[in-house]
Amino acid sequence: MDPYSIGVDLGGTNLRVAAVDSSGKMLQRESVAACFDKGPLRVINSIVEIVERMRARGAGYELRGVGIGVPGFIDMDLGVIVGSANLPGFQGFPIRDEIQQRLGIPIILENDANAAALGEMWIGAGKNVKDLILLTLGTGIGGGIVIDGKVMHGAHGMAGEFGHMTVIPEGNPCGCGNRGCLEKHASASAIAAMGSLMHFGHEVTSEQVYELALQGNQRAKMVFESMGRALGIAIANLINIFNFPLYLISGGPLPAWDFFAPSMLAEVASRSFIFSLTGTRIEKALLGADAGLYGAAYLPFQREPAYRVPITT
Ligand SMILES: [Zn+2]
Repeated sequence: MDPYSIGVDLGGTNLRVAAVDSSGKMLQRESVAACFDKGPLRVINSIVEIVERMRARGAGYELRGVGIGVPGFIDMDLGVIVGSANLPGFQGFPIRDEIQQRLGIPIILENDANAAALGEMWIGAGKNVKDLILLTLGTGIGGGIVIDGKVMHGAHGMAGEFGHMTVIPEGNPCGCGNRGCLEKHASASAIAAMGSLMHFGHEVTSEQVYELALQGNQRAKMVFESMGRALGIAIANLINIFNFPLYLISGGPLPAWDFFAPSMLAEVASRSFIFSLTGTRIEKALLGADAGLYGAAYLPFQREPAYRVPITT
């Protein structure tokens, strides 16, 4: 019988869990309030409960494993979160082994942005390629590199930190210590900040700047042109380095594509001869907030079926 797997997304305000079959069809999904502030044990209890429930409903079918997308840096060997602004109480906690011991099935952790890139490759906009980069525009800019069908982690699990690529040498200061980071010029927060500088209001959001652009406001359109240029510089650099066939963009500002894509594509064309010479595609991601959930569910399918949980006592 067709095996299935379960994906968990710890990246949002809710804890989201989905059972997915090997063709990417979603079989079950559940979402509960995350309670991340109550500490790791409470969250682990919720995950175990939901997985057990899904497993009971899927009785008779092989559960290949559970993939968990977490918003933070992961030590892949130890299966622990080594750094996360969103999950402070999880730092150093043996989350993988704790869940693995309780469920008796393989648990695989992955950074949530990397998981989203993997999800897009599996059943989203990157379905027909094995190499792609996903840039997710949010408060910051996250993303993932999928190479030959697998997430590229780098030596310390920190590969794909696109948000901190320098796009403007003397640009806006960033919390990372650098200036002119991509996320200071092209994230949803950056769009809102530029909107505020354009006197659209102190609390203006990126969605409101988009609404103004739709109404024909020239200064709102300028915000997206500026944001598109910054994004284009970053993508041109990525194309020149990776020569991948596909670069995807996701996140809240995606509906404003028509406002930022022209300046983005012009910038890429002027800065990347590879883009101009080849059929490199820069496109919208398709799965939205579910990309990470699908990507997490895909992780167990990447493992050998014979993989068994190592017993630790
Ligand atoms: Zn930075």
